Amino acid sequence: MGKTLKIRVHLPDWLTKMFPHSVWKMPGNEKVVYLTFDDGPVPEVTPAIIDILNRYNIKATFFCVGENVVKYPEVYQQIIENGHTTGNHTFNHIKGLSCSKDYYIKNVDEAARLINSNLFRPPYGLLKQSQFNTLRKRYNIIMWDVISCDYDKGLSPKSCISNVMDYVREGSIITFHDSVKAKTNVLESLPEIIERLKHEGFSFNKIKFPNKQKPVVTPWVKQLQKARDNFGRKSNRA
Ligand SMILES: [Zn+2]
Repeated sequence: MGKTLKIRVHLPDWLTKMFPHSVWKMPGNEKVVYLTFDDGPVPEVTPAIIDILNRYNIKATFFCVGENVVKYPEVYQQIIENGHTTGNHTFNHIKGLSCSKDYYIKNVDEAARLINSNLFRPPYGLLKQSQFNTLRKRYNIIMWDVISCDYDKGLSPKSCISNVMDYVREGSIITFHDSVKAKTNVLESLPEIIERLKHEGFSFNKIKFPNKQKPVVTPWVKQLQKARDNFGRKSNRA
């Protein structure tokens, strides 16, 4: 495996330690792993993943995109009804580095109206420092320890299996995608990955953290309040 792919699949510890306020793997030394699925819900893939998870009685975490929740509320409902956890993955999968902090936070807020969760995962794993500083007050920022690269159409399901099995360890947060692009890879590799992990003595859990202490007030809302306060003062004087 080339060096670039290796880093793509598994980030080195020195790199993740540079971002201590994100969660890269779950604490503890127990043989537990956390399966996560990004970019859904979509009817072509998400229900099939839920079926696989049900077959093994596994609970997982789905980082959902707000606009998909709007399009497919019944698929979102299916995730919840089957006892899985959901997390916020922005409203329409925007890139943090290409937009302002206020725009980004508004986009996350829009998704939060649909996805009730204190977990957030930035699309592409990238955020500006200012966006991160605001979001970490309200969310547990969940990254990953191992990524299957199932979205890469140049990879076979077999490579996705090795990507996970070569790097998995106690507490690993493993990332897959419930997207149309990843359909073949995720549906074909997931059962085998689960079988192998079970064989190695791993159990599975969903990601859960206690609620963050608010403030839910975003800079954008603050600006609105400030404008309203100013207006209020002016009209009091009048
Ligand atoms: Zn994503």
